Amino acid sequence: MYDVPTLTDYSAAALEKAAAECIRACSGEAAEVRSEAELKAFRDRWMARKNGILTQINDLWLKGAPKDAKREAGIRVNELKSRIQELVEGAHVGHVAAESYAADHVDISLPGIRRPIGAEHPVIKTMHEMVGVFTRLGYSVAEGPVVETDYYNFESLNFPVNHPARDTQDTLFIAGQQGKPQRERLLLRTHTSPVQIRTMEKMRPPLRIVIPGPVHRNDPPDASHSPMFHQIEGLAVDTNITFGDLKGTLDHAMKEFFGSSVKTSFRPSFFPFTEPSAEMYVSCFICGGSGRRGADPCRPCKQTGWIEILGCGMVDPNVFEFVKDSGYDPRKVSGFAFGMGADRIALLKYGVDDIQLFFQGDVRFLGQFV
Ligand SMILES: [Zn+2]
Repeated sequence: MYDVPTLTDYSAAALEKAAAECIRACSGEAAEVRSEAELKAFRDRWMARKNGILTQINDLWLKGAPKDAKREAGIRVNELKSRIQELVEGAHVGHVAAESYAADHVDISLPGIRRPIGAEHPVIKTMHEMVGVFTRLGYSVAEGPVVETDYYNFESLNFPVNHPARDTQDTLFIAGQQGKPQRERLLLRTHTSPVQIRTMEKMRPPLRIVIPGPVHRNDPPDASHSPMFHQIEGLAVDTNITFGDLKGTLDHAMKEFFGSSVKTSFRPSFFPFTEPSAEMYVSCFICGGSGRRGADPCRPCKQTGWIEILGCGMVDPNVFEFVKDSGYDPRKVSGFAFGMGADRIALLKYGVDDIQLFFQGDVRFLGQFV
């Protein structure tokens, strides 16, 4: 490291030599700077007011000069100072220099950096498409909480007190609810149907709503089950709504969603909140209802030519009893309801054979649906 020498010879040649040595030392140290911390240390060493090298030079070479050499020494020291200042101010860390070079030489003719844009998840996309079919029929979209009470999820939908759906093997309950009356206990809704009750409490008939959203069941994950999945549900209430309206509406919706060639078929079923109830099948849109794909059997319809798509039925008058005060007198109004799994429809539509793939967040999988 360079140390400021004490001068004994103040001749022009001696001053010149001392100044040259000082500049060479400063220049060498400037070239060694490799980090911001080193740059700061370098600047302090040379420029600090208290005991920096320039201050030392001032003290040792100028103040210490004999009277007759002071003028000459003053000129030399001032020259040296400005030279050192230039070197110190011009010093920088290697990569800083490289960056400033790049900033000065931007080629605006090069293509920009393209950021990948996200896209709708296949399940959400399916939901939006199906909801769109019903909003074009004049339905409004209704939503509700995912954490529900037993009252909205079961009781008001005509589930008897000891119905097995309340079992913890089927339903995910919020912990620590045992101290509450059953109807107030919180759970993760097992279907979107509570939104039917919540909407009827707020809006008088006639009513036409479609309800998309996530639901939860206590199902271990496998290729066709997920503890979280999505439903799309619908409800129409008015005077003189009949099963014929239900069939006509759903037949139209399936043709719009799957294509005008699909047929629908209704088979008797049971749900606590509808009476009568039915399961609706559509003719297989993969094999065209033949049950075969060339020489191979059609797996999605299990060779039957039909695929079960949704559950539906006429709203049970017992359900209207719970919202009678909001204008739903079961003697005056009637309605139909239906519900389907959006994830299952997405599986069929996109030919995916494992529902888990939808929720694992693997961009390589999801990127195929953009
Ligand atoms: Zn088929």
